[in-house]
Amino acid sequence: MLYATKHLSALEHPTLEAELLLSHALQKPRSTLLAWPQQTLTQLQQTQFVHILTRRQNGEPLAYITGYKEFWSMNLQVTPAVLIPRPETEILVEIALTHLAPNSTFKVLDMGTGSGAIALAIKKERPLSQIIATDISTAALAVARDNARHHQLPIEFLHGDLWEPVAGQYFNLILSNPPYVDKNDPCLNNNELRFEPITALAAAQQGLELLQKIITSAPDYLYNNAWLLLEHGLDQHQPLAIALTQRGFVDINHHNDYSGIKRCVSARWPG
Ligand code: GLN
Repeated sequence: MLYATKHLSALEHPTLEAELLLSHALQKPRSTLLAWPQQTLTQLQQTQFVHILTRRQNGEPLAYITGYKEFWSMNLQVTPAVLIPRPETEILVEIALTHLAPNSTFKVLDMGTGSGAIALAIKKERPLSQIIATDISTAALAVARDNARHHQLPIEFLHGDLWEPVAGQYFNLILSNPPYVDKNDPCLNNNELRFEPITALAAAQQGLELLQKIITSAPDYLYNNAWLLLEHGLDQHQPLAIALTQRGFVDINHHNDYSGIKRCVSARWPG
């Protein structure tokens, strides 16, 4: 264990990560390892453990190595075809829930669902609502479908770019965590982000391209008094507020993430 922790010393939580990787290599819960620390690894387990330690040391995210990431208290399958769900995105879910009464039968669209995290969390909390989740990536949709099946949450998954798969439909709430990192942002070469799908992360126009496209066309898919909720990046709240106002949205509210940064915006389409 000490050996592993030392190898991961560049990371923020080396001991925790070493424990999680060992638990993955041994296919045993971390609690078992902590309760019985004197386990001996077989030769194969040792080789596997060293292999995944090296992958982690090279910056590959823990979630891609274990194949799982927790979101909204659900263990979700993740592969390199999907963005790893971030804790901040739970804020988007929380805001959505404030607009969806507990027994509402509302129709909700999660555009660019990736692993399905947002759609699944909302279906879990509002089982009577009808959730449609889209993605341009068939590989991502396969992961999302698996997650929905595993958690027994019926969601309608549709393949296609932006509005294409939902032509002619209307929603009570549309939410999205689209790619919003400026495609020229050097952080995309950062040790961990470089493992994630660039199409799920980066966009043109200082990262605003897709957010703007969503704002422009959302009214064609929203009932009167329906809500649009978007996750966005650092310093994007002002251009988004301007775009939403110009498009005719009202009740524009900004929401902070856990670091106190404006990370989500919600707005009502008055009709
Ligand atoms: N929040 C992600 C990050 O860490 C970006 C997610 C996105 O582009 N939608 O940069």
